[in-house]
Amino acid sequence: MTIAHRPPRAYRGRLLTPLAAPGGGAAVRYLDDALLVVDERGRIAQVEPFALGAFRGPVLDLRPAVLMPGFIDAHVHFPQTRVIGSASGPLLDWLERSVFPEEVRFRDDGYAALVAGEFTSRLLASGTTTCVVFSSSCPGATDQLFRALLRAGLRGIAGLTLMDRNCPEALCVPHDEAIPAARDLVQRWHGAGDGLLEFAITPRFAPSCSRPLMEAAARLALDHGLLVQTHIAETLAEAEAARREHPWARDYLDVYDRVGLLTGRTLLAHGIHLSSREWDRIAEVGSSVVHCPDSNFFLGSGRMRLADARARAVPVALGSDVGAGRSFDMRRSMSSAFDNALCHGERLPPADLFFTATQGTADAVGLGCVIGSLDPGKEADFIAVRFPDHVLGASELLNHLVFAPETASVQRSFIRGKPIYSHQP
Ligand SMILES: [Zn+2]
Repeated sequence: MTIAHRPPRAYRGRLLTPLAAPGGGAAVRYLDDALLVVDERGRIAQVEPFALGAFRGPVLDLRPAVLMPGFIDAHVHFPQTRVIGSASGPLLDWLERSVFPEEVRFRDDGYAALVAGEFTSRLLASGTTTCVVFSSSCPGATDQLFRALLRAGLRGIAGLTLMDRNCPEALCVPHDEAIPAARDLVQRWHGAGDGLLEFAITPRFAPSCSRPLMEAAARLALDHGLLVQTHIAETLAEAEAARREHPWARDYLDVYDRVGLLTGRTLLAHGIHLSSREWDRIAEVGSSVVHCPDSNFFLGSGRMRLADARARAVPVALGSDVGAGRSFDMRRSMSSAFDNALCHGERLPPADLFFTATQGTADAVGLGCVIGSLDPGKEADFIAVRFPDHVLGASELLNHLVFAPETASVQRSFIRGKPIYSHQP
């Protein structure tokens, strides 16, 4: 892996970054006038209150914007970019009516390239700097997705969606074609972009995957140390379909467990309708759950109980789940996570939600030592957000960030200190 060397540079602005509190809760560090110094390898060298003459190099003054870590979207579907807002749910009906017909279009490379460009533009405009992505089942479209991520300079983990049953014939790819195609994509893209890009093993969900397909996928993940992402227990009808398809398993989670897909690098999206046994097993293996509350409200899938994960110290990431999620903006997901918790009688502090969308999600996807906060030693993935002038102090900033995102615009984004986005009014 090579990392391009550039002269160190510094950024001046207000600064807000998450902190994990000793008791397990979340807090923030806020500086009213800060200097963020990035070294020649794109790592954060220093975060200090600004002092004149403290840095002998170029300083980009971004005041009055607030510098904060870029958002991480741990679950998003690239081929659903254009079907956001298709209110044809619940889940299985929505897949049949809205999603599968659109995913068929991604067999055309030209169409896939066009939407891949729209997808990365939407992420950038939302302040997302890292995404964990489902592609379609088409290798060509997945190649176009990686090309677009590379061109945009984003950090991304993405995979070819695997499905070989219970889906339209045009999307169904048998395992003896899908696994070699996935292996080719691993060779081409895993570690590309100076390590910003990774390939993830991506079975859609157990109802649309045969046991041989999942077993072969698990071997490929093991061979290359790849992250695994899939869906689990989003709706009761889907859980029933998984049990019908795989009667040899004791429950939904056991399908993934027995075929070797449940690992310490597995991201399980949703996890709304899980038993205590399943939660205990997730904790034992060290897998993570991706909470997608905006999608869950839109499709009427149910409400995940965050307390079930936290009681077992299961890492929880946050995902937009576009196109069932109604926005690429992770601030919308934070706000929906607040509403979801409120339905369970819990009031999540905005600092907790901010932590989950940044450091918490980085931890859950295995990048917690690399990104997620603005601390020395981490890679400098950050955004500059402009708030109204009357919004002062950490508490007010967090309230506006999470609950009034229309008042706070993402102006700039940086990956490893390199500018990748600038807002055009
Ligand atoms: Zn999803």
